[in-house]
Amino acid sequence: MATGDLELVLDARALIGEGAIWNTALQRLHWIDIHGQCVFTYDPATGANRAYDVGQMIGTVVPRARGGLMLTLHEGFAGFDPDTGRVTLLPRPPEHDPAVVRFNDGKCDPSGRFWAGTMALAKGPKPLGKVYRLDADGSIHVMFREAGTSNGIAWSLDRRILYYIDTPLVRVDAFDYDDATGAIAGRRTVITIPPGMGRPDGSTMDAEGMLWVAMWDGGRVTRWNPRTGALLQTVRLPVTRVTSCAFGGPDLDTLYITSARNGLTEKQLAAQPLAGGLFKIRPGVCGVPAPAYQG
Ligand code: CA
Repeated sequence: MATGDLELVLDARALIGEGAIWNTALQRLHWIDIHGQCVFTYDPATGANRAYDVGQMIGTVVPRARGGLMLTLHEGFAGFDPDTGRVTLLPRPPEHDPAVVRFNDGKCDPSGRFWAGTMALAKGPKPLGKVYRLDADGSIHVMFREAGTSNGIAWSLDRRILYYIDTPLVRVDAFDYDDATGAIAGRRTVITIPPGMGRPDGSTMDAEGMLWVAMWDGGRVTRWNPRTGALLQTVRLPVTRVTSCAFGGPDLDTLYITSARNGLTEKQLAAQPLAGGLFKIRPGVCGVPAPAYQG
């Protein structure tokens, strides 16, 4: 498969563009602006990018099997109906204190449970985030604690490994994952990010079992072999704060990439005017469909 050039899809100027995910049922891309408090639905067929204000900080978006979307918001998990704009917040997750932490990135596992983590609102010495699992029956479980900035979550093609990124650790960890029960065990580091590449943020799996990782303050998306830890491919962007990536399009051969402008100085913004934009590239490999929430 041929590799294409990087293209700007939308000069969106998002504060923190994030959460790219392809909705296979709708053939559209969902993404979010965390500080802009918006979820977007982009239709490549028309170029339309519909924005929905969700009224509080948003951490991620996933499709819902019954229709509509699921979100993480500052306060917890929520359902979202794009037809009415209605946000339905689920009961507060156990141990979740919105005065101290907010929800951030998350994705559904191969069986359609919705995993997402939290992060502290203010910098501090202790990692106060947690990773939660929302099951199809609506129950919410704390899966582990002491996350710093909980970010990318992805699963191996054989459904036996969960790959996890806690950004400040500058690495990718793996857990043994039981798809029948959603249990995880045996945390270990599988990818160590060398200095000078930025910090790992969102991630996605490709059809060859390789992991794509967006690099915050790294100006790139990187492709890794999670079995060997080897760096395989680098896609450079004209912006430094690269936040998430997801394969989309009818053949899942287009990698959509989000970025942020939040926290950049005027001088930095002048040097990277497309910061906050949505980009795409055909990187020469296909993705796999993102599971929808089954509840
Ligand atoms: Ca993120």
